[in-house]
Amino acid sequence: MKTRPWLGEPSRTIEILQKYGFRFQKKYGQNFLIDTGVLDRIVRAAEIDEEDTVMEIGPGIGTLTQYLAYAAGKVCAVEIDRNLIPILEDTLSGWDNVTVINEDVLKLDIEKLVQEQNGGRPIKVVANLPYYITTPILMELLEKNIPFESITVMVQKEVAERMQAEPGTKDYGALSLAVQYYTVPEIMTIVPPNCFIPRPQVGSAVIRLTRRTDNKIAVKDEKLMFRLIRASFLQRRKTLMNGLRNSQELSYTKEQAEAAIAAAGLPAGVRGEKLSLEQFAALADVFSEM
Ligand code: SAM
Repeated sequence: MKTRPWLGEPSRTIEILQKYGFRFQKKYGQNFLIDTGVLDRIVRAAEIDEEDTVMEIGPGIGTLTQYLAYAAGKVCAVEIDRNLIPILEDTLSGWDNVTVINEDVLKLDIEKLVQEQNGGRPIKVVANLPYYITTPILMELLEKNIPFESITVMVQKEVAERMQAEPGTKDYGALSLAVQYYTVPEIMTIVPPNCFIPRPQVGSAVIRLTRRTDNKIAVKDEKLMFRLIRASFLQRRKTLMNGLRNSQELSYTKEQAEAAIAAAGLPAGVRGEKLSLEQFAALADVFSEM
């Protein structure tokens, strides 16, 4: 029988913070969850069961970790703040299926971790993310082809909306395209600031990114497509042509860029922000033949 999670109530969190004289570090984006309803919703959104190995990014004092450990077969939690390690030893002592790693997740070899923890089979990633690392960690998980089934994360509400955004909207950008190329994003719940201690300045949302199992958009050179995408969003208000010409990552002549835009069936003065993923793929295919 597994121990039930007991750390979700605000009074329990405050008790632990006081017991250890813990001081929040703003630079680490520390906003701890204190709402049992939200904690339950995250675990449900991630559809975790006994078969799953979960990687948690930033366990804090172990609140969400307890819920994950209760539901999953195995949890591996990566925490940067060494002051939290003795606290985690205490709060997670009731679960023998949790491993805590004291590391910066951005410097960790995640592929190796998945190999060690789950024999290379896909894991589920779950986190109340420190908001300052949202884009870098998601890009790392997506672009480096880390084996994962889904990523269920609390992020800033605006960032969640960007991940789901459609072409031509103000939220649409390189992050929307990367997320939608590799996964199917779905906002699962909106979370107000009063569900955290200390309260963040912004609204939050839980978003689930489920790895695409269908044939994702066919493109000959994935890396080239993402270089084109980054170039197109460098200067949002400029045309695609200008973006391509000004990018440090690309070295096409004006004539080549004009020819490729035409060959991909796009109007000469089109803006990058209007292009769908399929259109970026078509453009990349034209360039890769040049
Ligand atoms: N999971 C806890 C919760 O929900 O109450 C804490 C979430 S808090 C928003 C983010 C956590 O990520 C903090 O514990 C913070 O120290 C940790 N963190 C920040 N940057 C990190 C990094 N680069 N690598 C690993 N953990 C990090």
